[in-house]
Amino acid sequence: MNTQILPYNSENIAKAADIIKKGGLVGMPTETVYGLAANALDENAVRSIFEAKGRPQDNPLIVHISDIEMLPTLVREIPQTAKDLAENFWGGPLTMIFPKADIIPSVTSGGLDTVAVRMPQSEAARALIEAAGVPIAAPSANLSGSPSPTTAQHVYDDMNGRIPMIIDGGECSCGVESTVICFRNGGIHVLRPGGVTAEMLSQYADVTIDKAVCAKPAENEKVLSPGMKYKHYSPKANVIIVDEHGKHFADFCLEHSVGNTLALGAGVDESGIFVDYGKTPELQAQRLFSLLRKADDSGVDTVFVEMPSKDGVGLAVYNRLLRAAGFEVVKYD
Ligand code: AMP
Ligand code: MG
Repeated sequence: MNTQILPYNSENIAKAADIIKKGGLVGMPTETVYGLAANALDENAVRSIFEAKGRPQDNPLIVHISDIEMLPTLVREIPQTAKDLAENFWGGPLTMIFPKADIIPSVTSGGLDTVAVRMPQSEAARALIEAAGVPIAAPSANLSGSPSPTTAQHVYDDMNGRIPMIIDGGECSCGVESTVICFRNGGIHVLRPGGVTAEMLSQYADVTIDKAVCAKPAENEKVLSPGMKYKHYSPKANVIIVDEHGKHFADFCLEHSVGNTLALGAGVDESGIFVDYGKTPELQAQRLFSLLRKADDSGVDTVFVEMPSKDGVGLAVYNRLLRAAGFEVVKYD
């Protein structure tokens, strides 16, 4: 199978929707990362997502909708807080977990009795969902374990030969996956941080952050969000988080660099082994996966990354980096 990259326009959306309706897979742009899209209600189509990605079967998928009207058909119950959040953050990078309706196949929800739902902001994603006329299951369109794709080319690099088509909607504006939340004891519980931050959510209810967000779950520990237990977002190069800043970070990298090393600094001058991954959490989120993929393309062995801020979107950057680094954090001593 030859994988075509086609620009986002109404003609190509119609072609992509046709593939989805027939049970096929399409690379879909969203504002977070590119998704591997299929009909969320078609068991066989969803199974082929898991196959194409090599994704563990117990890692549930997010179901994407183009209109709030679709939500009551997919879930059994919608708390008032969810309605408030939908009104304020949909379309956008916020995924909410609800008790699932019978129409959602168990393969989509990874065998759970709940389902994760999101309405993206991306015009292309919403056009595709609307044209397909079904909710769309779409995990990130990378091979399981590797950095998420933020351009159509990234999707091609991982999925060439596995899917017929990728819709090119340009570079993703957010760059990290959506915030995933569930509702507990009248509050909001964050399972995965993303573009909609804890600070933003706290205007609507009390917010707690799951302990798996910043810590490695113990072997056999039951986690609320199955995706959190896997090594993730990881290039072939060895990623190491350096808990130092500015000159200390630079000195650490120069002293410890062996082989082909890349150092991602937050606002450093781009010289030698140093590459700037952005001064703000928003820039870091947007560039992170792309820079990790570039490291592999240029045969880098080790990537040192300056510790990001954990505020706002910074928590999402830190959460992804921890998993890319297999939780390896070092300090200068
Ligand atoms: P991805 O599709 O790769 O962006 O990952 C989706 C994330 O949402 C994973 O971390 C999943 O574990 C999480 N998720 C999806 N559905 C559920 C659910 N029903 N309960 C808890 N976490 C979920
Ligand atoms: Mg993913």
